[in-house]
Amino acid sequence: MVENKPDIVSVIGSEITLTKKGSRYYALCPYHSEKTPSFIVNSDKQTFHCFGCLAHGDSIHFIQKLHNLSFPEALSYLGIEQKKLSPRKYREVQKQKEIKSIKKELGEIYREWEKDFYTELCELCREFDLLKLAIKTEADLDRYAWLYLLQTDWKFWLEILRGENDKLKYGLYRKIGNNFEGHTLGDNEWK
Ligand SMILES: [Zn+2]
Repeated sequence: MVENKPDIVSVIGSEITLTKKGSRYYALCPYHSEKTPSFIVNSDKQTFHCFGCLAHGDSIHFIQKLHNLSFPEALSYLGIEQKKLSPRKYREVQKQKEIKSIKKELGEIYREWEKDFYTELCELCREFDLLKLAIKTEADLDRYAWLYLLQTDWKFWLEILRGENDKLKYGLYRKIGNNFEGHTLGDNEWK
């Protein structure tokens, strides 16, 4: 039994992003890949549990499993024991932390982009549907033919964003990223 265990919420919260709901905290499980959080931290019981991969334990288990540490190493890591990590293990942990924070940052950038791009595409499709109602003559149709072509892209991209295929999504991000020039109905380009 370890005395003075650090609070599980602050331990886990400093490693992954936690969202508070009532007295519980939710997160995307760091031990398996998932899109909706099934990882729950219970601050009353000072335990975590994942309903996806069934990982379970206290703050020490969490750190052990996350950084692949032995029990005494996890105690050192958490500052519970004075004994230092071996330099090799220390470097390993630092490297893991670095990689994780880069991944986290990239993930955040991507999610932000995905959200904005999705909203923008929905808005474009909606505006285009309105515009179609206004098209009456063949001359109009010719004038807006290029928009019909663009719309095919928009719908295709929306399908990718709505889907579950991360590779396609990432490919879309690589291809379009922040280079997408949005249009709005207010722009002269539409007229
Ligand atoms: Zn899990």
